[in-house]
Amino acid sequence: MIKPDPNNIMIICAHSDDQIFGPGGTIAKYAKEGKEIFTIIFSYGHFSSPLIKKEIIASARVKEAKDVDKYIGGSGVIFLGLDENKFAEQFKSKKMYAKLKKLILEHKPTRIFTHSHDDPLPDHRVLNKLLLDTLDKMKYKSEVYMFDIWNLFNIKKQHHPKIVIDISSTFKIKIKALKMFESQQVALTTLLWSVYLKAWLSGILNKMKFAEVFYKIR
Ligand SMILES: [Zn+2]
Repeated sequence: MIKPDPNNIMIICAHSDDQIFGPGGTIAKYAKEGKEIFTIIFSYGHFSSPLIKKEIIASARVKEAKDVDKYIGGSGVIFLGLDENKFAEQFKSKKMYAKLKKLILEHKPTRIFTHSHDDPLPDHRVLNKLLLDTLDKMKYKSEVYMFDIWNLFNIKKQHHPKIVIDISSTFKIKIKALKMFESQQVALTTLLWSVYLKAWLSGILNKMKFAEVFYKIR
């Protein structure tokens, strides 16, 4: 049995920038505490422009994600390179169980942060299931926390214990990190208000300036 390292945290998400939209303030805070945070991203993200070659967008996304990771104090990012909307089939056909297992054993996270099982985006929900199946199959025991990207409040998860992370000291870092995703500027402009609103409302409800809330499923 591999024992998780109490200093190690892992973020596992579908698209490059989910890791910041979701737990960005928490990553920055853990980094300040000297923890190791390693991020796994399933796909290169949305290929919105048909005029630019896929490979060019992909390499831009990788560079961006690595720059952002360095900025917030993370310890590395890896892309699995799966196509959007095809996670389940490609996880099988591209032998991703072995790859994900290897990464988990290498980094021995004591806490894993990932998408919630009732996120409105199908890729996010599929990833949640693939990850939990992987952890079960390899019998790896770590804490698993879920974050939401799109839902402001989630009533369905109220029965899961939640943790509230005070990100008052790192909220600015989260915002700056989000703005570093230049290739996704359009999505960002429309979403930034919700990042503020969510952190602020979560803060008010928990007597903090800004907060991120996670639900524990393992
Ligand atoms: Zn996403």
